[in-house]
Amino acid sequence: MPSLRFQVVSDAFKKHPLYVQSPKERPSEFFAKYVFNKQKMAKYLDKDTYSKMLDVIDNGSPLDRQTADKVADGMKQWAMELGVTHCTHWFQPLTNTTAEKHDAFVEHDGMGGMIEEFSGKSLVQQEPDASSFPSGGIRSTFEARGYSAWDPTSPVFVMGDTLMIPTVFISYTGEALDYKTPLLKGLQAINKAATAVVQYFNPEVKKVITNLGWEQEYFLIDEGLYSARPDLLLTGRTLMGHSSAKDQQMDDHYFGAIPERVAEFMKDLEIHALELGIPCKTRHNEVAPNQFELAPIYEECNLAVDHNMLIMSLMQKVARKHGFRCLLHEKPFDGINGSGKHNNWSLATDTGILLHGPGKDDLGNLRFITFVVETLMGVYKHNGLMKASIMSATNAHRLGGHEAPPVIISSFLGRQLTEVLNHFENSTDDTIYIAGKAGLKLDIPSIPELLIDNTDRNRTSPFAFTGNRFEFRAPGSEANCAAAMITLNAAVAEALVNFKERVDALIASGKEKTSAIIEILREDIKTCKPIRFDGNGYSDEWKEEAKRRGLDVEKSCPLIFDRYTDPETIKMFESLNIMNRKELAARNDIKWETYTKKVQIEARIFGDLSINHIIPQVVGYQTKLAENVAALKAILPEEQFSKVAQSNLSLISEISERIKVIEEGCEALTNARRVANKITSNREKAIAYHDTVEPIMDQVRYHIDKLEEKVDDEVWTLPKYREMLFMR
Ligand code: ADP
Ligand code: MG
Repeated sequence: MPSLRFQVVSDAFKKHPLYVQSPKERPSEFFAKYVFNKQKMAKYLDKDTYSKMLDVIDNGSPLDRQTADKVADGMKQWAMELGVTHCTHWFQPLTNTTAEKHDAFVEHDGMGGMIEEFSGKSLVQQEPDASSFPSGGIRSTFEARGYSAWDPTSPVFVMGDTLMIPTVFISYTGEALDYKTPLLKGLQAINKAATAVVQYFNPEVKKVITNLGWEQEYFLIDEGLYSARPDLLLTGRTLMGHSSAKDQQMDDHYFGAIPERVAEFMKDLEIHALELGIPCKTRHNEVAPNQFELAPIYEECNLAVDHNMLIMSLMQKVARKHGFRCLLHEKPFDGINGSGKHNNWSLATDTGILLHGPGKDDLGNLRFITFVVETLMGVYKHNGLMKASIMSATNAHRLGGHEAPPVIISSFLGRQLTEVLNHFENSTDDTIYIAGKAGLKLDIPSIPELLIDNTDRNRTSPFAFTGNRFEFRAPGSEANCAAAMITLNAAVAEALVNFKERVDALIASGKEKTSAIIEILREDIKTCKPIRFDGNGYSDEWKEEAKRRGLDVEKSCPLIFDRYTDPETIKMFESLNIMNRKELAARNDIKWETYTKKVQIEARIFGDLSINHIIPQVVGYQTKLAENVAALKAILPEEQFSKVAQSNLSLISEISERIKVIEEGCEALTNARRVANKITSNREKAIAYHDTVEPIMDQVRYHIDKLEEKVDDEVWTLPKYREMLFMR
């Protein structure tokens, strides 16, 4: 009987024509339809409350109870007009997903009936039971309380019948249990540090904001095929599977025509996203088959993080409507590109982007160089921590592969900016030299004149300057962007504070301001030189070179997490009031625990599949071969038989040998787990899983993939790479 796989595969190749009805309005008309933004506030709040809210949102003023009540009233009215019946605080625990607990608007009316109620108190604060969220031991089990508090800088929105209120999530003793709390504190820290430095150049600047434009990569796979792969279902990636004869070697997928079914999905997703105020802009095929990307217009960092969390959950929901599963894992398929989430980061004042160079005026240019150099200083000093901020059990499979940033943080500046810094470093006078943007005329009619960006491209760099921003390319596709942003903002804030202290000291000693700035910048350009690397980040020479330069070259995920509790890290986060020693230690405990659990689940399902899928089907095939050999022996003369049966006989013994390796490997896997599970320290346990459990899976997989190549296609139960990777 042919395996179930054939049914699933043939279903997958039938089209699912789920055409999306385009809304009648234009995107500009339905954009943010479900968001309680300033426009809605102006309509649903009285004048006084509205202006108080603006002060809360724009200047961080405290929100009093009376105003909160009035805001809640306006929100309730707006929400009920949309048919909303429930509300929830929406927060980001340390699990890479979001959490919500819905409460209905209803209350007793005291006369045996019910009324719709939504008070300022339920808007501002809730007390979800925190005991089931990771806390790294901060909150002992008998003190299970935590509370969530409204973040008014991220607007409230409606999903289905629920009013969603973005909140921070904090333990009762005040420690952060989420990503948003330290993110907001870090944004405050960089605002303060950067504003102080910008004021050297533009004294009227009051505020510096951080922008984030993420690019989200993902895979789509047919739902039926997904369901027939227990490894994908439980771990988000395939743990076995021979590579497809054709995958990405023809370079025919990147920017190729988007398959019809996928285009329908994207259209649907974008409509939902736009309605929720996510400014979707770009969509395209990525390099690997079935891999795609979505990028919005950049936004203020906190809002951009919320929008990324929201889009990830939307993607999964909308995908199912279209008969797909959306894979956000960083490496769902071995041997082809994995998925990342490029974080385009920049600083801006109330008057313009700070990393925008080169301007016409000298002071503007000096400001530009200051921010580039101090960004590099932060990233250089904390390069190991930057890596820790994006590291995870899943992203570890992608980093250092031949398509993803290497496991060493360095920065690519492009030729022109490199020349500027070199010139600056070596010149002896105080003149500043910056090359302007070069205009390139293309000699083809009807193509408009293009302005070459001041940066060339280097795809191998984890932290590249790209014209008016830095692009941090190492974050993983399923991660919360906040982790990377907390560290980057803190590192740059610290560098700016430090820069200002030294400049001020020179000024105090009588030096003229501009000369003082130039002197310190010259010093810093020399100091942070080791982080600058414009060559091929994938090469082996770079690994050696990086080690010589003193950059962090650690590859083991659990050991990379150690950077979070280094003395310089603790000093940085504590001095900027972002996180304290206790929170950092607790968060690391969660990281190690999560790492262990992920590998543990992989190892278990790997063992199961090997024993109850792979070996039985392979043995079945081997029996068939043996029967054939016996039949040949019965009818053929001896010397003819040995010639004819040769290939089957050697396949029979190859199968036996590989089965033996697989069985022994699975036993070794179980034993390694058993030993590791006895370890009580989360750090040591994660190290054991990394060093002793993971490598066995790789070794055994090799033999399974070889068998997939040899065994009759008809008996193979798991959908193959060539079936999963090509959408029609
Ligand atoms: P590419 O793939 O070439 O890097 P994309 O167009 O896919 O470019 O994505 C660029 C991302 O960078 C978008 O999200 C865009 O909004 C964002 N971006 C552009 N300028 C800035 C900036 N100054 N600060 C932050 N993000 C920016
Ligand atoms: Mg990019």
